[in-house]
Amino acid sequence: MTMTRRNFIKTSAIAGGILAGPSAAHKGININTRTAGSKGLKLSFRPYELHARHQFTISGFSRNVQTSILTEISYDGVTGYGEAPLPPYMEGQTPATASAFMKKVDLGQFRDPLELDDILTYLEGVDAGHTGAKAGIDIALHDLAGKLIGRPLYQIWGYTRSKTPDTTMTIGIDSEDVVRKKTEEAAPFNLIKVKLGMDEATDKMLIETVRSVTDKPITIDANQGWRDKHYALDMIHWLKERGVILIEQPLPKDVWDDMAWLTEKSPLPTIADESCQRLTDVPRLRGVFSGINIKLLKCTGLREANRMISMAEAFGMKLMIGCTMETSCGISAAAQLTPKMDYADLDGNFLISNDCFSGVKIVNGKITLNDRPGIGAEPIRS
Ligand code: MG
Repeated sequence: MTMTRRNFIKTSAIAGGILAGPSAAHKGININTRTAGSKGLKLSFRPYELHARHQFTISGFSRNVQTSILTEISYDGVTGYGEAPLPPYMEGQTPATASAFMKKVDLGQFRDPLELDDILTYLEGVDAGHTGAKAGIDIALHDLAGKLIGRPLYQIWGYTRSKTPDTTMTIGIDSEDVVRKKTEEAAPFNLIKVKLGMDEATDKMLIETVRSVTDKPITIDANQGWRDKHYALDMIHWLKERGVILIEQPLPKDVWDDMAWLTEKSPLPTIADESCQRLTDVPRLRGVFSGINIKLLKCTGLREANRMISMAEAFGMKLMIGCTMETSCGISAAAQLTPKMDYADLDGNFLISNDCFSGVKIVNGKITLNDRPGIGAEPIRS
């Protein structure tokens, strides 16, 4: 049998576990359609380098580029899309480890993509860790299921579309001039998130610079940067007087007694981010923080995120959803959960200059879900 160019690309791309990418789609080479005779799910993926609009600095890291692994799962001519963003703070998770994990995943054994719970339980058991890669697969699978059902995920879960919150826009740690410029650029947003956790003079300069531009409410993320609970409490009182409404991860992630003390005394809600990775972390955060920051890349995706929502609600804890630099694919997936959120920090697609998806929008600062089935995002075919 003669191997056509199309079949050759199909075979080699699948064998390597890598998509040919949008350029192949331009040429009419569709590598994602199901091969004849196969009824299993087909997973493919490729790395995509995200370019930051501005160098982004938080307490501990600076970066201009970051890699996401874009995923696709196809079944019966329908394709679900997902994304595994891999920021540098993900302890041992790199594009290479995520790709190696995805190559081990055999979705071809599954015949019904709506049996999502069994598929994701299998995925969890393939190997420990790899939360970002698992999220990339979980999102694509949910997108596929939503498309097969013909409904957006928030509707399938029974969440109320109009209850989505405003999102914050994040200002990283930077010089006075850059912070002023970024604050001006954040004009379309109703809430500003400021990264703190440096020395006292720098932290106060950052707040006063933002305040010289706008009086919008501010949320704070110290990224574990404050080392002493008394210092942290003094800072929180100082910040409250300047219109701050929330404090994320003020202390190092494992100082439980000090954190419980701080939450009890704090006039503002405290939210666990680095202290809260997965569902199993939530019980010990009760009474230690006021709430949790859920991120799909930390908790392996939408299935576990919904379980964390239920548990935090049962404990009377506040809910926040966050992200990293990522495309509108990952952001739209996370946005499906936002009707349940008290706070949302879903600005990752605004932090990059090469978004290759079109999805959920921000309208007058508010996360605005659409009617598209699944995660509500599609690749941009330029
Ligand atoms: Mg954070």
